Amino acid sequence: MTVTDHPHKQSAGQNPTLSVVIPVFNEREVLPIFLRRITEAVAPLKITFELLFVDDGSSDGSGQWLLDRTAVSRTMRVIRLSRNFGKEAALSAGMDRASGDAVVVLDADLQDPPELIPEMLAEWRRGIDVVLMQRRERLGESVMKRFSASLYYRLLNRLSDSPIPPDVGDFRLMSRKAVAALRGLPERNRYMKGLFSWVGMPTVVLHYDRDPRAAGRTKWGYPALARLAWEGITSFSTKPLKLATLLGLSAAVCGAAYGAWIVFKALVLGDPVAGYPSLIAIITLLGGAQLCTIGIVGEYVGKIYIEAKQRPIYLIYDDSKDTAANRSQEDLDEPARVGIR
Ligand code: UDP
Ligand code: MG
Repeated sequence: MTVTDHPHKQSAGQNPTLSVVIPVFNEREVLPIFLRRITEAVAPLKITFELLFVDDGSSDGSGQWLLDRTAVSRTMRVIRLSRNFGKEAALSAGMDRASGDAVVVLDADLQDPPELIPEMLAEWRRGIDVVLMQRRERLGESVMKRFSASLYYRLLNRLSDSPIPPDVGDFRLMSRKAVAALRGLPERNRYMKGLFSWVGMPTVVLHYDRDPRAAGRTKWGYPALARLAWEGITSFSTKPLKLATLLGLSAAVCGAAYGAWIVFKALVLGDPVAGYPSLIAIITLLGGAQLCTIGIVGEYVGKIYIEAKQRPIYLIYDDSKDTAANRSQEDLDEPARVGIR
């Protein structure tokens, strides 16, 4: 395909550019290997690219290590957030500042093989806006984690209004158009998988084997995963509220039926009413159901509260591109986003 009939010509112009957004939180150990592999994967491509690292408040020197390298690498750019905001916020920061016509999102721990980027780019060149990477295998993950993940995706899709494909993480390519659409979503609850799927657009799914972590350890313990899971459900569905209503309704119907039975027993069968244990059982059951449903309502009220505050999703502490621009006039002439030598 020649440049002239390029489907993304409108936005890409003569010289399409690629941004790779990499959230980094305490990945000092893997960064050298990562940098080598990503450069080897992307440099041979005939495309101008930037490696946009978002340091999500690392405390192990990852940010400084990366920053030191921006001095010698024109393709690297480092945004440091003011503290740890979480991966979802780091991704938002990266996507807000990425300038490429195509944007690839990739984990720093090499679980998402950078070698697949050429394949993703090929799809984008065909005019696809979103290239999703679906995991075939979850190597190096426990049986328990695999099982809970599959269960979760099934539940999420039952409840969510826009379909979220299973085993698709944040590893994906997006066109400028898709990124712009994503940036237009103002909510503070950044459940990325859901936001991505809400955007829609022409999409293809590629399959890949997810590697085990190259080094370091996962930042997601079970409590964090559970929180993310719950966030996913409540950010993209009001069905729990409907379930709460349903629960209340069925409790009321059961209560009415049981009440009728008691009256019938007392009047017709002449049964003297004792029933202390059943009374207690019913009171606690109803009390529990009420607290539970109030809790669900509370979750949504809490979300409204967070949204109403209108706080930014992340705070950028510094951006190597701005620093480079301030450094000297030559740097102004040579923006940080210049391609391969
Ligand atoms: N990450 C981040 N902020 C966080 C936690 C993680 O930017 O608060 C980054 C992390 O550096 C990695 C990616 O998000 O590049 C995925 O994290 P991790 O490997 O811990 O998650 P998993 O692959 O186990 O889902
Ligand atoms: Mg990982």
